[in-house]
Amino acid sequence: MHNTRDKYKNNFDAMKSNYESKIKEGPTDICSCCGGLWFAYSIREYTVEMLVKKGLKKEFIDTVCYLKHAIIELCATCRKDIMSNKITNLALSNGLAFYEIPDCLKILTELEERLISPRIPFMVIRTLGFSKQFGLKGNLVNVPMNVDTNVSILP
Ligand SMILES: [Zn+2]
Repeated sequence: MHNTRDKYKNNFDAMKSNYESKIKEGPTDICSCCGGLWFAYSIREYTVEMLVKKGLKKEFIDTVCYLKHAIIELCATCRKDIMSNKITNLALSNGLAFYEIPDCLKILTELEERLISPRIPFMVIRTLGFSKQFGLKGNLVNVPMNVDTNVSILP
C-alpha cells in the first residue's frame, strides 16, 4: 500500500513540474494563417503537399497561409475554415497584418514618436474598486495633430 502511494506521489510531482514548465513556457507557437500565439498542443503541422492532397488549391493555400514557412502551422479555427475552403475572418491575408516599421522610425525616442503621431489619445486611468487595479474611466479622446506644423515649429 505504502509503495503504491509513493509511486503515485512521484507521478504527481512529475506531472506538477511538467505542468509548471509548460505554463512558464507559455503560448509560443504561431499560426501561419491568423498569426495568433498558441500552445503546442493547439497547433497542427502541415506541409503544402498534405493540404493539396486534401483537395485545396495551391493558390488558395498561398493566399491564406500568410506566414511563409516550409511547415504550415494551423490553429483549430483556421484549420476548420481552411478545410472547408473558406478564409478565416481573422486571417492576416484580410489586411490584418502589421506593417513593417521602417528603420528610421525604429530609433525614435518616446517624445519623438509622440510628436510625429497623427493622433494623440487622451484618457483617464484610475484605480477601480477595492482591488486598486488600474482601468480606463470615461471616454477616450483622439486629438488629430498636424505633423507638418509640429515639425516646422521645433528649432
Ligand atoms: Zn489561426
